[in-house]
Amino acid sequence: RDRGNPIFSLRDISKHFNAVQALSHVDLDIHAGEVVALVGDNGSGKSTLVKILAGVYQPDGGTISHQGTTITLPSPSAAQHAGIATVFQDLALTDNLTIVNNLFLGREVTRGGLLNEHEMEQQATTLLRRLKARMPSIRTPVAHLSGGQKQSVAIARTLLGNPQMILLDEPTSALSVTQSAEVLTLIESLRERGLGVVIVSHNLAEVQAVADRIMVLRLGRNIGTFHTRDVSYEQIVSLITGATDRLD
Ligand code: ADP
Ligand code: MG
Repeated sequence: RDRGNPIFSLRDISKHFNAVQALSHVDLDIHAGEVVALVGDNGSGKSTLVKILAGVYQPDGGTISHQGTTITLPSPSAAQHAGIATVFQDLALTDNLTIVNNLFLGREVTRGGLLNEHEMEQQATTLLRRLKARMPSIRTPVAHLSGGQKQSVAIARTLLGNPQMILLDEPTSALSVTQSAEVLTLIESLRERGLGVVIVSHNLAEVQAVADRIMVLRLGRNIGTFHTRDVSYEQIVSLITGATDRLD
């Protein structure tokens, strides 16, 4: 179906590290309300692409545009200002703080110079309910949560910055089946809210369940970007491994 104009577009993006060509001439569009999965073997350039969109790495060449306007992302804070939120694998949660305090870390709501705990708790409850995230009390220390719940808190936290797009680098790689299912439900609710979502995952069954489109990277090259319904599990594996370069 026609999705209209993309919110973010990458064109001809390349990046090298010394002798390693991590990305070569990569194009990607991300639309509102769309989940795009990046798949590829270890070292294929997935995290490098995420980090370029997160403002962590600068591309050697190519352009990034936001709703048709060329932008640069010289720092993580510039990416946040452009509406791009990122959840990296380490999550960067503070284990001994509660769910609500992690959500508002660095973004505390105050009134008259004092922390407004009540307002933060109300906002946290509303946010987690809207995300359909299954959580214990928001006053629970994050240390007591499952891996899936921690991932959900990390994702929910980024939403307080009102992003247009959220980047998730291997959000389920350390999770059980049940925990992964919770995170996938949350990703679906992000799509329903109209966010663009980029997810890196090695779990192709999960990718097929959640993604609208799948981009295959091999040795830094974009082998193809496919609508999920147009490509089988076996075809994705063949494209990733290099058994084939194109679908017939
Ligand atoms: P993926 O996430 O698909 O496993 P990466 O994007 O992490 O792949 O890495 C792509 C290639 O770039 C690999 O060969 C990796 O070793 C290299 N690379 C990534 N980041 C750096 C870095 N900071 N310094 C040097 N080489 C890097
Ligand atoms: Mg990676």
